[in-house]
Amino acid sequence: MMSEETCIFCKIIKGEIPSKKIYEDDEILAFNDINPTAPIHFLVIPKKHIPDLIEARLEDVPLLGKLVFYARCLAAEQGCGEKGFRLVINCKSHGGQTVDHLHLHIIGGRQLSWPPG
Ligand code: AMP
Ligand code: ZN
Repeated sequence: MMSEETCIFCKIIKGEIPSKKIYEDDEILAFNDINPTAPIHFLVIPKKHIPDLIEARLEDVPLLGKLVFYARCLAAEQGCGEKGFRLVINCKSHGGQTVDHLHLHIIGGRQLSWPPG
């Protein structure tokens, strides 16, 4: 499992890897996905290194709520408020998670198909 020291999203938080930041405060960071699958595709992450959703604890509930609410605010800010968007959390290998630092995908700006496969 990817440790905090080698985690690419922790490196983005520390500014060691560049990113196109959308929003930042002391607890969360939002930035554009490097490989967008739609006209709007950004990630919202906690600054705390939580490897995946299964690793989230009861004490993280306020942070999880904040991540979802800010995802909604930033999606609206980026123009997805009217037509909507998709909020995705991939978890571990069966979920298709490739970066072991909890992140919310916000995907929008075009009609998305369902189910995702
Ligand atoms: P997941 O498959 O849910 O773990 O999603 C990881 C996402 O992180 C993918 O959509 C990648 O395109 C994205 N990603 C990986 N490296 C970077 C990076 N350096 N900057 C921005 N997005 C990244
Ligand atoms: Zn991390």
